[in-house]
Amino acid sequence: MSRNAESTAFRSALEVIRAVEPRVADAIGAELTDQRESLKLIASENYASPATLLAMGNWFSDKYAEGTVGRRFYAGCQNVDTVEALAAEHARELFGAAHAYVQPHSGIDANLVAFWAVLADRVESPALKKAQVRQVNDLTEADWFALRRELGNQRMLGMSLDAGGHLTHGFRPNISGKMFDQRSYGTDPATGLIDYDWVAEAAREFKPLILVGGYSAYPRKVNFRILREIADSVGATFMVDMAHFAGLVAGKVFTGDFDPVPHAHIVTTTTHKSLRGPRGGMVLCQPELADQVDRGCPMVLGGPLPHVMAAKAVALAEARRPDFADYAQRIVDNSQALAEGLLSRGATLVTGGTDNHLVLIDVSGYGLTGRQAEQALLDSGIVTNRNSVPQDPNGAWYTSGIRIGTPALTTRGLGAAEMDQTAELIHTVLTQTTAGANADGTPSKAKYTLDPGLADKVARQATDLLATYPLYPGIDLA
Ligand code: PLP
Repeated sequence: MSRNAESTAFRSALEVIRAVEPRVADAIGAELTDQRESLKLIASENYASPATLLAMGNWFSDKYAEGTVGRRFYAGCQNVDTVEALAAEHARELFGAAHAYVQPHSGIDANLVAFWAVLADRVESPALKKAQVRQVNDLTEADWFALRRELGNQRMLGMSLDAGGHLTHGFRPNISGKMFDQRSYGTDPATGLIDYDWVAEAAREFKPLILVGGYSAYPRKVNFRILREIADSVGATFMVDMAHFAGLVAGKVFTGDFDPVPHAHIVTTTTHKSLRGPRGGMVLCQPELADQVDRGCPMVLGGPLPHVMAAKAVALAEARRPDFADYAQRIVDNSQALAEGLLSRGATLVTGGTDNHLVLIDVSGYGLTGRQAEQALLDSGIVTNRNSVPQDPNGAWYTSGIRIGTPALTTRGLGAAEMDQTAELIHTVLTQTTAGANADGTPSKAKYTLDPGLADKVARQATDLLATYPLYPGIDLA
């Protein structure tokens, strides 16, 4: 690929945009500068390839294509069929899945599709059966009433939010927490690790319809074979949300018991985190759930985004190349090097380390809340996000943790030596930041002091660290 082609493509695109609304063109350019200059350690972010980005910026965006490949509610979908079929084929091949549904617009949407598919498949409801065979007009008011009663309040068991689970796994701020009767499993307070015996016991007691595996902030491998056995022992459907670690599954870093695809009935993911694709979601499932999953649009999704499905096809093709496996392994190597660097400087890490792409620092040891630490790091050019730690006394807003991840910096090419330097920068900021007080003298969970000179110095060191590893080296907008 000639570097010229990438520069020409993006420069030309900006020129066209600038002619209509220059402020948008400026913001796009500024975003590139900001991303180039900051040490991006947000575990859920990455840098998609220029090919993936370009596949989204075109007239596929103009097309409506409700339905599935070859069976659309709109005419003229032959080219959308091509890209959707390609994306699904790449997904099936990459993950060894029987079925792939690539329409979800995001991870939350993918989970909604999965929940609906499981409810429709598992809940005994004569009214629903009628509705599914498209006799909707034959349903009486009593049928609809029964249907709502039968589908509501089904049981879900997922990982607790403060142990690293995601909002969509049955928590109140998300619709899943309002639809489902939810219980959660946490982690062992002594080790920070999932206690599978405890999960088995909770499943035996609670008898969930759906057992959810997967996380946003758990820094360890999960044994999906054991979770599947637990699900089977209570007749639950086993769903895994691999949004965070899909890239590690694709790159065959997580195999055997740690690869969810052969063990789960249904797997959801985002495509933009460690998988390094466009923003979006995807559902993989076993054949018996395929029909229900394919009803995602219009059941819970709006019309598919053909331009994003085109970009998914490109990114998934990239993930099938041998160099993606190397990338995935480097993500974990970097994460472990970062963890080592922090531990050797005295940081406390949840579970004492990592075997995936993320590290969770318990910043209470520095006398800070997650919010104070996040802002102090941001002042210093280091972009992270605050996150709860297990049994967090500061709740989900202020938190006691900082989650950091390596997929993005690994894409730029940084390695173990730079991870140690990164650990040094983080340690410097956290040890030099002091928690502030409210006007009445009580300790503040948000205020802090950090010498601006030191923050600037760290930000310059971060920029220097990145200078050897330019982001999008083939794109020159000047
Ligand atoms: N599932 C998990 C495990 C996540 O971590 C996230 C996002 O952070 C989501 C789902 C939601 O993804 P999206 O933001 O694309 O809806």
